Amino acid sequence: MHKRRFFGGIALAAAVLTGCGVATASPSQDDTVPADPTKIRFVDPATITGLTTRTLNEGESGGRYVHISHPEFPGAAALNEALAEEARRQQRDFRAATGDTGAAPRPELNVDWQVAAFSDQVIGVRLRTGEFTGANWGNSVRTLWYDRATERATGSLGLLADRDAVRQAVQTKLVDRGVTPTLTDDMLDSIAFSADGDLVVEFDDCQVFDCSQGRVAAAVPKDQARPLLSALGRRAQEAALGQEAATATPRPTTPAPAARAVDCRVAKCVALTFDDGPGPYTGRLLDSLEEAGARATFFTVGLNAAAQPEILRRMVREGHLVANHSWAHRDLSKQSSSRVADSLGRTQDALAAATGVEPTLARPPYGAVNKDVRDVAKRLGVVLVNWNVDTRDWKDRDSKTVTSRAVAGARPGAIILLHDIHRTTVDAVPAILKALKGKGYTLVTVPELYGEATLEAGQLYTSGPLNRATRDGDV
Ligand code: ZN
Repeated sequence: MHKRRFFGGIALAAAVLTGCGVATASPSQDDTVPADPTKIRFVDPATITGLTTRTLNEGESGGRYVHISHPEFPGAAALNEALAEEARRQQRDFRAATGDTGAAPRPELNVDWQVAAFSDQVIGVRLRTGEFTGANWGNSVRTLWYDRATERATGSLGLLADRDAVRQAVQTKLVDRGVTPTLTDDMLDSIAFSADGDLVVEFDDCQVFDCSQGRVAAAVPKDQARPLLSALGRRAQEAALGQEAATATPRPTTPAPAARAVDCRVAKCVALTFDDGPGPYTGRLLDSLEEAGARATFFTVGLNAAAQPEILRRMVREGHLVANHSWAHRDLSKQSSSRVADSLGRTQDALAAATGVEPTLARPPYGAVNKDVRDVAKRLGVVLVNWNVDTRDWKDRDSKTVTSRAVAGARPGAIILLHDIHRTTVDAVPAILKALKGKGYTLVTVPELYGEATLEAGQLYTSGPLNRATRDGDV
């Protein structure tokens, strides 16, 4: 059921006024309203060959939490650079706005994305930003466009030939709601199209209406919008009209290798865990693990995983464990129980759809757990797993430092935290594997670390059970 919402387009709930083409709702509440004219038909990123994802993060041990994800498209260098620059700008601005207090709850910046259009003419990417600076989340949206003919990236205003007329048309829709906001060009920074070709303008939380209204969007009918569009805008509208509604691909069965005969009560075992991917370096990481005969656990972000299902299948084929790291990496302990359930449940569905295997483990973003998170995990039947060795590889982008922290922290039963979204971390892995094997360690998945010891859904684990070597002080 989560897949349907993801593939079906933007999620809307409550207070949708279909008659006048204006909708308001929280963007995270996901009950699809088919008749809503402001529903954008998104493209399933898994259908785009060669797409990968990039992530900027400030991690678990930081004074603030930052997780910015964006897609990277083959053959669209200017768009990729515009997305990367936007990510860097947001991180910079958030740093300047929040300082480095380390106060709890941590200030948090989270950016996720959807593909608003993809054709041989245009690409549209919708970025959704959530900021938490003390009390509540504030959400904003921005949609960037790319013209394949000119190889130029632009903001949403690039879709319009007659801004004044579009602003006027949108204003008329909003006035029907009993409020007369003053719209400026700056506010028209997130424009896309519905499956019917209607032009959809989305606004940020609190931008035109009271904050309690959540998502606010207005639709200008296709034929009314057409003469107001630039050449790029017309191509974007055509792309939306030509876009097939994505359908869930049949669930593949991925043959995993037979279980290994490793007994971590006797052997010296260590579990390497890689978070936040998959990303552009994950394939190379898998090569290193394969070469060393090592297995690992991948706590994947649902958004990244759903976009790159083939690499997940490779993980399973090669004996690694694919696990849940939430949909878009927001701190779950700051969310309502229903949002926690949506984030973890949707990721369970996406990972199962990609690999044919239902995940059994989840790691909450930033390791942040509360009772709601534990309760939801229990209901979903997943075990919560954190770590007891933090390489802080998100902070120190230096392979030697990452290697020495991982090796120095290793003990029988250790769970080591790494991130495969960083090139420097993936560069460090061959040396980590060599050093650990040299010390007699076997590199295992988290379930292998526990062997027959029972892991309980909803419980949090941070290291494996003691083994003989640990008990005897022989580490
Ligand atoms: Zn993470």
